[in-house]
Amino acid sequence: MIHNAKPAPRLWNSWRTSHASWGHVMGVLFIVTTTPVMVFYFFLSIDQYGGKALDPIFNLFSGEEDIWLIVSKLPRVSLYAFYIGSLWFMFQVFLFMLPDILHYIVPKYKGGIHFGPVTPAGHILPYNINGLQAWFISNALFLLNGFYFEFFTPTIIVDNFGGLLWAAVITGNIIAILAYIKAIVAPTHAKDRKFTGSVLYDIVMGVELNPRFGKMFDLKLFLNGRPGIAAWTIINMSYAWKQYELYGHVTNSMLLVNYLHGLYVVDFFWNEAWYLHTIDICHDHFGWYYGFGDMAWLPWMYTLQGHFLVYNPNQLSQISALLIFTLGTCSYLMFRSVNSQKDKFKQSDGNCLIWGKKATYIPAEYLTSSGERKGSKLLTSGWWGVARHMNYTADLVGALCYGLACGSKEFIPFFYFVFLLILLVHRCLRDEDRCKAKYGKSWNVYTSKVKYRLIPYLF
Ligand code: NDP
Repeated sequence: MIHNAKPAPRLWNSWRTSHASWGHVMGVLFIVTTTPVMVFYFFLSIDQYGGKALDPIFNLFSGEEDIWLIVSKLPRVSLYAFYIGSLWFMFQVFLFMLPDILHYIVPKYKGGIHFGPVTPAGHILPYNINGLQAWFISNALFLLNGFYFEFFTPTIIVDNFGGLLWAAVITGNIIAILAYIKAIVAPTHAKDRKFTGSVLYDIVMGVELNPRFGKMFDLKLFLNGRPGIAAWTIINMSYAWKQYELYGHVTNSMLLVNYLHGLYVVDFFWNEAWYLHTIDICHDHFGWYYGFGDMAWLPWMYTLQGHFLVYNPNQLSQISALLIFTLGTCSYLMFRSVNSQKDKFKQSDGNCLIWGKKATYIPAEYLTSSGERKGSKLLTSGWWGVARHMNYTADLVGALCYGLACGSKEFIPFFYFVFLLILLVHRCLRDEDRCKAKYGKSWNVYTSKVKYRLIPYLF
């Protein structure tokens, strides 16, 4: 059931440009060429250089190794890895298509059919929210196999890491090209497309907002959550198993990384219906950014800490482990609390309690593309009165804990933190530009009341 509703505002739908300048094209060219290299570079650093991120470069410049020797250490493309990857991918497609049973069984879990926001062309799309069920089935089967059936070794991922990496990079690129072709020849909602005149920019940043196969198979929701995020905890378990195989025990740092990442992943699926209202679904178009990002970048770069710990096992002191456990858990609780406050506020149209008091807000207005004036509210109490993006701050503290959990002075475990810092600061600035264009003066009033973005008195 797809409704045609009133068109949403175009004025403020400025996440993806409609005109690609020279700077835009150079920017995406840079991303497309550097990120795949980074994925393989980090693989090499961990697999061949003991987790020392700069060693390949030092060796190259000191003349100890030439470029061909380094390149010869890259993993090979493997048909077997393609086979494993394809099985996983197809299994996730199957799980994605299943109706959600979990929301009948688990109280408060919001699974089943939910509707996304109104798209700029006026569509409200239904989504089958069943990510928690898919995650549970996938992870439970992996554990059952590891402990009981033993059809395959649970270290299968880390044992075939290089080949799987190739499979993910190649598939991510193919998906991006196919999505671009589909956007031209068989768009799902033609009026929700954006073309800039630059083929490269359009392939990378996407043309279609919500490409679908049939009425329900939404490519963006599928690729974002499964196969990448559902695999995240399985990849981490594979690392833990490998540690056990190599050293006969699993370090507390590995357990901490598994626990902290696990919290984040389960939270994502528990709140999948909320995710429909985030920038990813509302504003980003589907292109290489998602194809490569979800297939290759997310599963391999977000799990770098576990991979690092396989070859650098580190046992934290009890006090360090406890401190990181506490800080990581608190950052997660804060992350959830910030996001839930805005969600509760929006759902109740401002009629709710935040931290035990009636929510305060700044009334705001915006114009839709049809010239209609609409009202909105900007929350100024709770976390949203402390700074404008405390959800990003909490996310960053969590990312720092993942690195600290590895208890090492090496850079690789902290890469995710640095990456997320750049991503979220950039996202914060982009979002604020969009909000300013949308809400005008009201946004200025809001920013003069809530002055800081991520850290009070600093930024
Ligand atoms: P937000 O959930 O912060 O949403 C921003 C939007 O909320 C704005 O565009 C505006 O939309 C609305 N808004 C902003 N301020 C207010 C206010 N004071 N009152 C009411 N509404 C307001 O951002 P994201 O969608 O980017 O992030 C969602 C979560 O996902 C975050 O916790 C983030 O940390 C996480 N994330 C994680 C990533 C990762 O790779 N680990 C990547 C990206 C995000 P409107 O037009 O509706 O008013």
